[in-house]
Amino acid sequence: MPELIEVEMYRVALDATVGRSIAEAHIPDRSYPRFVGVEEVVAELVGSTIVGTSRRGKLAIAELDSGRRLGLRFGMTGRLIVDGAAPIDTLEYSSDRDDPAWDRFIIRFCDGGVLRLNDPRRFGSVELDPSLDALGPDASTATVAEMVDAVKSDRSVKAVLLDQSRVAGLGNLLVDETLWRAAIAPTRTARTLDHERVAHLRRVMRRTIAQLTRRGGSHRGDLHEERHAGGVCPRDGEPLLRQQVAGRTTIWCSAHQT
Ligand SMILES: [Zn+2]
Repeated sequence: MPELIEVEMYRVALDATVGRSIAEAHIPDRSYPRFVGVEEVVAELVGSTIVGTSRRGKLAIAELDSGRRLGLRFGMTGRLIVDGAAPIDTLEYSSDRDDPAWDRFIIRFCDGGVLRLNDPRRFGSVELDPSLDALGPDASTATVAEMVDAVKSDRSVKAVLLDQSRVAGLGNLLVDETLWRAAIAPTRTARTLDHERVAHLRRVMRRTIAQLTRRGGSHRGDLHEERHAGGVCPRDGEPLLRQQVAGRTTIWCSAHQT
């Protein structure tokens, strides 16, 4: 599924639309816009020019010349395709087919180019002026003070890192990889991490995001190849545990993660 790394690739692709005016917008699925009707989104977009892009966590934003902002969310399987090119051809858990029936949101530019959000499972959405208030700091830039704040919870550290209102951008794969690298048990109560371990967690999180971005995606972690029955820890060779933590399938090593 698209996590911060993939959504940042989409945001970079979105940069190719800056300076371009929108001739048409189509939203075939009436339930795809969030908190707003299809007609309002279409009316806002047609005649507008995209003037900038940004991202917070898994939310990509196109800024319009009207001052309004178009938010794009990609859910489990959403892909952004700009002028026929997808920054990511195959997503984990998704299809590598590009079926036009899965196009949930389509923009045609005056210059003839096309932007499409192709989303087989339809958990993504489009939104006007999305609120950032509900999102925590972006995981790629979160400060130590922000992370100290984020872990003040009686829930597991895994639940906290997946909670977009605490820290924005991480999904299941990035959380498992980060905790494995940071030697922190996903089941540990978040607030029991002392300052030093939180600072370490933040360092590892940012380094992991940067490294997996260079490798090409959230599924390029060292732990990923072992996400199967019988997988062993790449660090110490111990059998990996596979259990539900915070409602998600979690792979971890009880030998070195504490
Ligand atoms: Zn281990």
